[in-house]
Amino acid sequence: MLEVKDVSKYYDDLKAVDNLSFSVNKGEIFGLLGVNGAGKTTTFRMIMNLIEPNGGTIKFNGKKIDYDMTDKIGFLTEERSLMTKMTVKEQMLFYGALKSLDKDTILKRLNKLLKRFEIEEYLDRKINTLSKGNQQKVQFISAIINEPKLLILDEPFSGLDPINIELFKSVILELKEKGTSIIFSSHRMDHVELFCEKLVILVKGKAVISGYLKDIKEEYKKKNIIIKGNVKISDLKKIKGVLTVQKRANDIMVVIDDKSYAKDVFNYVKKQDNIEKYEIAEPSLEQIFISKVGEAYGK
Ligand code: ATP
Repeated sequence: MLEVKDVSKYYDDLKAVDNLSFSVNKGEIFGLLGVNGAGKTTTFRMIMNLIEPNGGTIKFNGKKIDYDMTDKIGFLTEERSLMTKMTVKEQMLFYGALKSLDKDTILKRLNKLLKRFEIEEYLDRKINTLSKGNQQKVQFISAIINEPKLLILDEPFSGLDPINIELFKSVILELKEKGTSIIFSSHRMDHVELFCEKLVILVKGKAVISGYLKDIKEEYKKKNIIIKGNVKISDLKKIKGVLTVQKRANDIMVVIDDKSYAKDVFNYVKKQDNIEKYEIAEPSLEQIFISKVGEAYGK
C-alpha cells in the first residue's frame, strides 16, 4: 500500500503541494486530478523520490521509498522521454537494466508485451520511425517491463486514438487484477470515472475533494434530471431548486440543488403531454470537478 501523509512541497514561496494525504491499496486504481499547475507532477516526483518533500512522509508497504525500491515502481511521465535513435529492443534493454533485470528476462517480457500491444514487428525498428501512438506504446511498455508493484501514469492516454485507449485500458486493468497499485492522472474526467475507485482533486496543491468516487457522488448534493418530451425550458427554470436547464441533442438536462427538489420538477412534468422519459441521474465527475474547482477559485 502507498501512504502519502501530510506531504507539502514549496518552491521558494510557492506552496506547490499543501498538506496532502491519501493512500492507494494493493490492486487499486487511484486518480490524482487537478487543473494545470495544481501539483500533480510535483506529487509524482515526490513519490518517485526524485525530489524531497518539505514536510510529511511517503511510504510504500510501510517503508520509505529509497533507490532500491524504485525497481518495483513504474513511471509513465507526461512528457515523452524515449531515446528516439535507439531501436525498441535497445531502448528496452537499457530501461530493463536500470531496473536491475537481466537480458533474458527483459527480452522474454518484451516479446510478450509487444504482442499484447500489437506491435511485435517493431522490435528492431528505430523509435523515431514509429508513429506517435506506437511510441506511446513503447513508452508504456518501458514503464511496466519491471512488472511494477506501484505504477504511476501521468496522462497515459494523451495522443491515443479510441481503439488504442481501449487497449491501454485493458492492459491497465490486467495489472490491477495482478495486484499493482496504480496512480493515474488525466484531464479527461470520463476516463477517470471509468477507472478510478478512489481519487483526490487538487486545487493549488490542496485536496478539495478526496475519497471513494461512489461516496463523492453520493455526498454531492446536486442531481441531474433527464427529461425527454414536451416541456418548456422557461417553465422548468421557474421551479424552485432548479439551477440550470440545458437542451441537449436528444433530451433536456435539469440540474437541481438537492434531491428533494426532484418532486417539484416531477409535479410539473407529469402534467405535460408526450413525456417519454423522466430520470434522476447522479452528477458526472466532470460536473463535480468543475463545480469544486470553480468554488475554490471563488467562481
Ligand atoms: P500540469 O497538469 O500542467 O502538468 P501539475 O498539476 O502537474 O500541472 P506541477 O507541475 O506539479 O503541476 O506544478 C505545481 C506548481 O509548482 C505550479 O505552480 C508550477 O509552476 C510550480 N513548479 C513546478 N515545478 C517547479 C520548479 N522546479 N520550480 C519552481 N516552481 C515549480
